[in-house]
Amino acid sequence: MSKILVVGGSLGGLLAANLLRSQGHEVDILERVSGSLEGRGAGIVPHPVLIKALKMVGVEIDHNLGIQVDHRVTLDKNGGLIADMELPQLFTSWGKLYHLLKENFPAKHYHSGKNVVSFEQSQEAVSVHCEDGTSYNAELLIASDGLRSAIRHIIAPQIKPEYTGYVAWRGVCEESALSQHMRDTLFNYFGFGLPEGEQMLGYPVAGNNNNLQVGQRRYNFVWYRQAPENTILKDLLTDADGIFHPQGISPVQVNWRHIAAVREAAKKNLAPQFAEVLEKTGMVFFQPIYDVFSEQVAFERVALMGDASFVARPHVGMGVSKAAEDALSILSNITQYGATAKAFEQYQQERLIPGQRVIARARYLGKYMTAQGQAELKNNHIGIAQRVMRETAVDIADIIMSDELIPENI
Ligand SMILES: Cc1cc2nc3c(=O)[nH]c(=O)nc-3n(C[C@H](O)[C@H](O)[C@H](O)COP(=O)(O)OP(=O)(O)OC[C@H]3O[C@@H](n4cnc5c(N)ncnc54)[C@H](O)[C@@H]3O)c2cc1C
Repeated sequence: MSKILVVGGSLGGLLAANLLRSQGHEVDILERVSGSLEGRGAGIVPHPVLIKALKMVGVEIDHNLGIQVDHRVTLDKNGGLIADMELPQLFTSWGKLYHLLKENFPAKHYHSGKNVVSFEQSQEAVSVHCEDGTSYNAELLIASDGLRSAIRHIIAPQIKPEYTGYVAWRGVCEESALSQHMRDTLFNYFGFGLPEGEQMLGYPVAGNNNNLQVGQRRYNFVWYRQAPENTILKDLLTDADGIFHPQGISPVQVNWRHIAAVREAAKKNLAPQFAEVLEKTGMVFFQPIYDVFSEQVAFERVALMGDASFVARPHVGMGVSKAAEDALSILSNITQYGATAKAFEQYQQERLIPGQRVIARARYLGKYMTAQGQAELKNNHIGIAQRVMRETAVDIADIIMSDELIPENI
């Protein structure tokens, strides 16, 4: 069996490492962060490929995985219903998936506090070096180190995150804090709001300790808002002490004045039910939205996967499922070709075009945020609301595999 290193111990890295280990490979994960990553993400829509990967690694999938939601609704500014749609879907949480995958992986092979700073490869092996002076050797290296991948930066510096011009404000609100009106009209739905140039969405997720009991759950929201790079984004990335964080600001550092302002804006622009969620969410934070588009994901004995290879705007709700698909492809090619550069070459053959298509699809969905999208919205509010509900965060496996279904001009 082969010796394989995975850089990045978040969902993508854990999926790949667990899958490879289930086939008997010796896998070590190097993760930069020292403590647990729990509490990092929020809601996740698990598409069938993710369920398949979880089952393959022996993770038990039962009714505890998440919350079933059967309908989508779009609310207007006054809280009234613009449109609704039946679309059954399960919502799980990032923390739940992380917990399941981390528990399933042997702790002694998960190395926390390992910031990988360099690596080199020969015809037979790869050596990886960490900031603390430690080094690790293996036959293959899988980079699952996210949007700002250090491995990608070394091996393919031309591939860079491109800012889309908007951010996603996020947070999760305790169900118990919400009014009965909100619970009756929004909580149990995948809800949308379409204020001008913006998009709000929310859905229920498990509460503390994965509690799925009514009254103990949470409502997860994502509010896309324009933030031009050199003005608003710069301001948002500057904390209350005036320090600028160009590589991203952590949730606790977001300036409280910006949080107060976004809560005020919610009262003006969004349905009262959504405004209530923002008002009652303890930690409101934001993430700038980027595209990462790659022309190459295999480099001899090094492969990029998950967000290290492609980042699509979250409208597709595909990040974790795409990482699962990448991990499954890596596994099947290592099974077929062994721990060789050929295995990664074949992985690239399988995953490059689908990765590029996910980006294209996400850009198409992000068009709603552009002037053109807004003009369409003004002319056809109900039709656009229905389209946004029909297309957001659904399984697009067929679209990815079919040339014909890809919207043109994207
Ligand atoms: C607003 C928003 C909503 C989203 N909604 C969804 C959704 O509904 N469904 C969905 O599937 N996806 C969603 N996503 C995307 C999803 O979060 C990611 O696609 C997914 O987490 C990818 O995981 P990853 O493991 O590839 O990368 P990451 O989760 O970014 O993990 C990378 C890991 O590598 C580590 N690392 C980085 N550099 C180094 C280094 N030098 N050395 C060692 N370790 C390192 C980091 O600490 C981190 O733990 C959303 C994203 C956003 C922004």
